[in-house]
Amino acid sequence: MRYSALSLLMQALRGHRDWPSAWRNPEPKPEYSVLIIGGGGHGLATAHYLASRYGITDVAVLEKGYLGSGNVGRNTTIIRSNYLQPGNTPFYELSMQLWEGLEQDLNYNAMVSQRGVLNLYHSDAQRDAFARRGNAMRLAGVDAELLDREAVRRMHPYFDYENARFPIQGGLLQRRGGTARHDAVAWGYARAADRRGVDLIQNCEVTGITVTGGRVVGVETTRGPIRAGKVAMVVAGHSSAVAAMAGLRLPIESHVLQAFVSEGLKPLIDGVVTFGVGHFYISQSDKGGLVFGGDIDGYNSYAQRGNLPVIEDVMEAGMGLWPGLGRIRMLRHWGGIMDMSMDGSPVIDKTPVEGLYLNAGWCYGGFKATPASGLCLAHLIATGNPHPVAAAYRLDRFATGHLIDEKGAGAQPNLH
Ligand SMILES: Cc1cc2nc3c(=O)[nH]c(=O)nc-3n(C[C@H](O)[C@H](O)[C@H](O)COP(=O)(O)OP(=O)(O)OC[C@H]3O[C@@H](n4cnc5c(N)ncnc54)[C@H](O)[C@@H]3O)c2cc1C
Repeated sequence: MRYSALSLLMQALRGHRDWPSAWRNPEPKPEYSVLIIGGGGHGLATAHYLASRYGITDVAVLEKGYLGSGNVGRNTTIIRSNYLQPGNTPFYELSMQLWEGLEQDLNYNAMVSQRGVLNLYHSDAQRDAFARRGNAMRLAGVDAELLDREAVRRMHPYFDYENARFPIQGGLLQRRGGTARHDAVAWGYARAADRRGVDLIQNCEVTGITVTGGRVVGVETTRGPIRAGKVAMVVAGHSSAVAAMAGLRLPIESHVLQAFVSEGLKPLIDGVVTFGVGHFYISQSDKGGLVFGGDIDGYNSYAQRGNLPVIEDVMEAGMGLWPGLGRIRMLRHWGGIMDMSMDGSPVIDKTPVEGLYLNAGWCYGGFKATPASGLCLAHLIATGNPHPVAAAYRLDRFATGHLIDEKGAGAQPNLH
C-alpha cells in the first residue's frame, strides 16, 4: 500500500484496522545473488538502492537482532555536509541531496528537518579554521555562512556569551543541515526494499563467512547456511568481528558512544549547535526532549552502554555553553558501538576476498551518510567499480598512506 492522505483517510474510516505490515517476515532461502550482513541504516539503504537503481532484487539483508536495533536507532539524528577534505565533501553533499528527496523516494515520513547546524568558534584561530572550511564548502557548491557573535546571539540568546575562558565569537552555519528521525529512516528503507522483493531476515546472526579458493560462496547463520556469490559486510561497530570470519584484520577499533535526552520541554532550541571547546552538541526533538552528546568513552568495547566519567564530562561541557541546562532533568542515556577508523573516514570497497565487500569505519558520523553510503555500496556491488564520490574510501589507503584525516588528528581512532 502506498502511504498517502487518501490511504490515511480510508484507513481512518475503517478504524485503522487494515494497515498492512510495513514489511514481510520471510524465511531465508538457500541462495541469493547478494547477501547484506547488517540490518542497520547502511545495510537497508544498500538493499533499497540495489533494487531501485540497479534492478537487483535477489537480495537478503541478514540482521542478528531486529531491524534498526543498532546505531541507526541510537544516534542523535544529525545530518550535514560541512566537510573540508576533497575525499569527503562530494560524498556527504550527495548524501545531503539524497536526504532532501528521501521521503518522496521511500514514500515514508522520515521527519527530515533542515533546521541548520551551527558550529561555534571561540578564538581567532578557530574562526580562521572555520572560515577555511566554509570557503572550501562553498567552492564545492555546499552552503555555508560564517556568523559573528551578535548573529549567533540573535539565534540563541540563552548561551553564556560572557564566559571569560571560552567566549563565543561566532559560528559556521550550514542551513541545509539538520536532523532526521533515525529509526524512521531504517523503517522507510526497510519498507521500500521489501516492496521491491528484498528479503529482510531478522534474528539471523551471521556466525561464519565461507570462502573457497579466495572467493566468498556464502555465510553460516543461526538460521542455517545461505549461499551467495556476493556478500557485503555492513555491520558498523561489529565490522572487525565479522571481517575476522573471513580472515581479515581491519584498521578499525570498536568504541562506545553515548547519547542523552532530557525531559520534554517547550520549544527552546530550533537548530543543531556544537560547542567549539568541549565535545558537546545539542538539538531538540519534536517531542520536546533536548538531545545531546559528546565524546566516545575512550576504551574498546562491544557493550552498548556507557560509563559515568563521560556522562560528567558531557554535562560539564553542556554547562560551559549553556548554564541554564543545570535546571533541566536528564531523562535517559544509552550507548552504541562505533566503528572508529584510523583516519576518521569510512571504507566502501572490495576486500582481498573476491565477492566480499566492506562498508565500515563510520565513526560517530555515519547516520548522515546513510543514503550516499547505501547508494555507493550498491553501485560498487552492481557495477564492480567505485561510485565517483566514494572513490577515495579505499581499504588500501591505510597501507599506501592516502589517508582522509578530516580533523588532522593523526592515526588516533579515539580522537576522530
Ligand atoms: C550515541 C550515538 C550518536 C550518534 N550521532 C550521530 C549523529 O548525530 N549523526 C551522524 O551522522 N551519526 C551519528 N552516529 C553514528 C551513526 O549512528 C552510525 O555511524 C551509523 O548508524 C552506522 O551505520 P548503520 O546504521 O548501518 O549501523 P547499525 O545500525 O549499527 O547497523 C549494523 C547492524 O549490523 C548488525 N550486526 C552486527 N553483527 C552482525 C552479525 N554477525 N550478523 C548479522 N547482523 C549483525 C547489528 O545488529 C546492527 O543492526 C551516532 C551513533 C551513536 C551510537
